[in-house]
Amino acid sequence: MLKLCVIGDPISHSRSPEIQTAMLRACGIEGVYTAEQVKKGGVRDFLESAVKRRITGINITMPLKEEIFSLLDDLDDSAKGAVNTAVWTGDHYKGYSTDGTGFINSLGALPITGAKATLFGAGGAAKVVLCTLQDAGALVNVCVRDKQKAVGLAPTERIFSWDEADKACEGAVLVVNATPLGMSGFPDFENTGFLSRMDRGGLVYDLIYAPPETGLLRRAKEAGLETRNGYAHLVHQAVLSFGMFCGVKPPERLIAELIAKG
Ligand code: NAP
Repeated sequence: MLKLCVIGDPISHSRSPEIQTAMLRACGIEGVYTAEQVKKGGVRDFLESAVKRRITGINITMPLKEEIFSLLDDLDDSAKGAVNTAVWTGDHYKGYSTDGTGFINSLGALPITGAKATLFGAGGAAKVVLCTLQDAGALVNVCVRDKQKAVGLAPTERIFSWDEADKACEGAVLVVNATPLGMSGFPDFENTGFLSRMDRGGLVYDLIYAPPETGLLRRAKEAGLETRNGYAHLVHQAVLSFGMFCGVKPPERLIAELIAKG
């Protein structure tokens, strides 16, 4: 029996068990996928227990992606400072990130080469999304509450403080929220004046999917901007993780059905 799980804190909102279990069933694989609450600082103990419990694959969510990156010795190139997927090799866990490709797959046809984009946050998901957008040729500004945390991720002139959000979003065709602001149980963005600085045809993309519409997305919609929540991204990154855990891709029909549920 294949044992898989997702770890994070909070974790009760996670839709990964529902998605991964549907994929296991569709592929006729006997396995279980559970959600486990692991608090910041608890990843080393969790990994020891995962080895004993013969867990084959682990998804990692907020706030543990950077912590596990620092603990694993074997890292794929996709894990740019953060790991969201760990796979048992038979000897140790190897870390990957499917967040970048999952994000790009969920963006669809939005042209981003040469386009201005702004990313809120510099944590585990933000790091991978930032590298992916930069690799795709976007000009990415990063907006953070502590500028030091973004040093080395983007050129200094592209790092902005929270107070400089208006300037950071000037002319942006894409704004991505990679902070927990707006997530169930967390405060919302206090000020969304930066939305008025975006390109009028711009897309506001919130990586959060619980709730389906955050305050940021609601205000973006009211401002006439296009919006997207993080559910399609969740499905796309899950499909890639599932392929690493099980060696097969779930049927396209199921992927489309799962995305439609979001
Ligand atoms: P993380 O590693 O904990 O990073 C969180 C980032 O948000 C950090 O830069 C942090 O800044 C910033 N932040 C936290 N509280 C803040 C506040 N009150 N004001 C301003 N900034 C704040 O988390 P993560 O794994 O990157 O996840 C970030 C978000 O993306 C979460 O909401 C997560 O659910 C979502 N996500 C969704 C998917 C999906 O599949 N849809 C995938 C990945 C992530 P400091 O360093 O200063 O604390």
